[in-house]
Amino acid sequence: MVLARPGDTQAVVVAAFENPGIQHLTVELERYPEIKAALESGQPVLVEDLDTHPLYNGVRECWGSEGLEIPIRSVIALPFSIDRGEYGVFLVRRTSDQERFEAADLEFAQAVVTAAVAVIQRAQMVENTMADNARLEQLAQTDPLTQLLNRRALTERITAEMERALRYDSTMALLMVDLDHFKKVNDTYGHLVGDDVLRDVAQLLATTIRASDIVARYGGEEFLVLLPETDEVGAESFAERIRVAVEQHAFARDTIFGPLGLTASVGVAVFPAARIESVEDLFARADAALYRAKADGRNRVRL
Ligand code: GH3
Ligand code: MG
Ligand code: MG
Repeated sequence: MVLARPGDTQAVVVAAFENPGIQHLTVELERYPEIKAALESGQPVLVEDLDTHPLYNGVRECWGSEGLEIPIRSVIALPFSIDRGEYGVFLVRRTSDQERFEAADLEFAQAVVTAAVAVIQRAQMVENTMADNARLEQLAQTDPLTQLLNRRALTERITAEMERALRYDSTMALLMVDLDHFKKVNDTYGHLVGDDVLRDVAQLLATTIRASDIVARYGGEEFLVLLPETDEVGAESFAERIRVAVEQHAFARDTIFGPLGLTASVGVAVFPAARIESVEDLFARADAALYRAKADGRNRVRL
């Protein structure tokens, strides 16, 4: 299989039956008049006998002067294009010890190549659609500002994790992290700085968690952290780590405006627990804990 466009002087052999190692061999089309003719006419070319066919007059002379013996008897060159983007030629050859190709061989080869091109085109289409779907799915799960998972995507993970905890008799925890007085950041420095700070916090959370934990943006200036295989004590100490990390973080915006003095309050909920039966129950429990953290003076963790 050779790739080239009409008018090219060189072509690339991308696959060869008699030499499977070939992947990208450049050839001079001068030496392959049947490929050139097929590309330029867009029609299949049949050379029954290389020794007598006029297409090969010039090439035969070259072979003669170079003392080359070319053991090819017949050639069929079948042009193809895939989605009008890739042009090329399928080249089928017979050696001197084999019978010549005839018109019927050309017809058969043409039928095979037409079917093969249709299948390749179809496969490419399916591949593209699958890639598009994967991209859309990714987009649907991602919060555009922070690139974290969004609430919907996290809700799915939490549901799965709750089922797992029940099945394997283990525990899991959910942290709800809410930035303190974040409205003041917006009011003082503007919304764009606010956005920057949110991205910064997202990054901070993402680097603070363990590989098995998941962080998501719940909405606004609220984040969620899902901690699988974690009990109350573990969750509380992890929440404290996050609280300290935010308090001590040097925000990129600090340098321009002085320290933001940003802090966060964290509400912790664990599962299984009494009266928690759904994801909504778990959210509500974390939210209630967060409310207590705020009420008790902010910049603290509550269970
Ligand atoms: P509290 O300590 O009680 O949580 O006070 P707070 O100001 O953080 O809470 P409040 O709920 O009163 O305000 C949240 C603010 O978060 C309001 C809004 O301006 C800001 N906010 C929410 N989403 C975004 C966002 O996407 N970008 C920016 N820049 N600000 C946001
Ligand atoms: Mg809030
Ligand atoms: Mg807040």
